[in-house]
Formats: sequence, structure tokens, C-alpha cells
Amino acid sequence: MDATSDEPSGIIVAIDGHSSCGKSTMAKQLAQRVGYVYVDTGAMYRAVTLYALQNGLISATPDGPVIDETALQQHINEGRLCVAFDPTGGHTLLNGQDVEDTIRTPQVSDLVSHIAAIPFVRTFLVSEQQNMGRQGGIVMDGRDIGTTVFPQARLKVFVTAAPDVRARRRYDELVSKGLSGIRYEDILRNVRERDHIDATRAVSPLRQAPDAILLDNSTLTPDEQLNWLIGQFHRAAK
Ligand code: C5P
Repeated sequence: MDATSDEPSGIIVAIDGHSSCGKSTMAKQLAQRVGYVYVDTGAMYRAVTLYALQNGLISATPDGPVIDETALQQHINEGRLCVAFDPTGGHTLLNGQDVEDTIRTPQVSDLVSHIAAIPFVRTFLVSEQQNMGRQGGIVMDGRDIGTTVFPQARLKVFVTAAPDVRARRRYDELVSKGLSGIRYEDILRNVRERDHIDATRAVSPLRQAPDAILLDNSTLTPDEQLNWLIGQFHRAAK
């Protein structure tokens, strides 16, 4: 596809941006269209959060989450936590179990940015992500792909949309999946809170890389943004 590329299997595409702005959908569609591997790094942080919940290493309190960081670090160091993707459906696997739906629940969404702010969690997952993408031919989406994971990525896109537009899309998606008891106000609060935590954390804060192309998709349809992205891809991969 890109014979002039110095990455043997194709270029690296880094798609970063704010929460719930449709990055994953468009990144996944691009990967399918051009035959690249797709990696949703947010799912990896969500899987670590689910693991912490399942093992009693994090609990929500009125004063915010309490995390047993020492124990979590020990579990990671001992190799007890394996996050991977099912090669056929792309579903997220936590120690071999398909957790694709469980990691999208509001309980995980409320806690994930706290887990993602812990430096040793980032070191662990960034190294896994770099191993997955080293050969190129990959579309990876997240918050720090163009700044930290693959600063050399050939195409970098930073996606954003107004917070209320993002909350409405997320709300509609959860309702369409049949989740009950979902309130739009709670989703909007979660979107704003995650933006704030992601942008102000000490390690790899959410930032647009200087060489990333900004895409505000507030008024674009999914088809319009996919076509835009495919155009950018062909320009970058030439
Ligand atoms: O992409 P998604 O919204 O599923 O990501 C969940 C959370 O994981 C984000 O709110 C952010 O806190 C964290 N994250 C991150 N770095 C990434 C991907 C996600 O810190 N590369």
C-alpha cells in the first residue's frame, strides 16, 4: 500500500482526543478500510480499572476513589494482569476473558481516569502499545499516542467536539445498547471530569501534538469524518 514507507507493514496512525468524541469508531473503520490493525488504548486502561475493581484494589468513596496502588503495582509486576485483543472480533480480553461490554459500564467510566493517571500503569500499558505498533500498519487511538506512545507517527489527528455533543452521543449509544438507569446529566459530568483529569495529570497529559491535525467533528456526520480521515491517510501514506 505504501511502498515508499520506512515502516515495513505500513504507517502508524495516531488518533488522540477528548472522551466520547467518536475517535474509536472512526479509527476502527479506517483500519478496516485499509487493512491495518486497530488498537483502542482506552480499552486497555478500562481493562486495568476493571481488574482493580474485581480484585478489590479500588473503591469509590464520597471523597473520591481509594486505590491500593502498592497492591496494583505488585499484581502488574508479577504478570497477573494481561490485556489483549481478540484477533477475530477485536474485543478486549482481560486475562483471556472477553470484557468488551463490562469495561464500558458507567462504574468503570467513572474510575478509569484515576487509574490512567497512575505513572506505573501508564509505563506498563505504553510499553505494551509500543510492542503492538512497532511494525507499523496500525491505527491506534487514545490520549497520548501522538505525544508519547508514537511521537514519530506519520499521521496524527486530534479529535474534539463540544462536551454536550459528546455526552449526547455517548448517552444515545448506551441507551441503544439497552443499559437502563442512564442519565444524560451524569454522562455530561463524566465527560467533563475525564477531560479535566486527562488534561491535568502529571504524566502524559492529554495534549494536541504540535504536528497533529485538529478535527472538530461537532457538526460532521460519521460518514463525513471517515471520508476526511481516509483522505488524510492517503496523503500521509504516499
Ligand atoms: O478512550 P476511552 O474514553 O475509552 O478512554 C478511557 C480513559 O482512559 C480516558 O478517559 C483516559 O483517562 C484514559 N486513557 C488514557 N490514555 C490513553 C487512552 C485512554 O489516559 N491513551
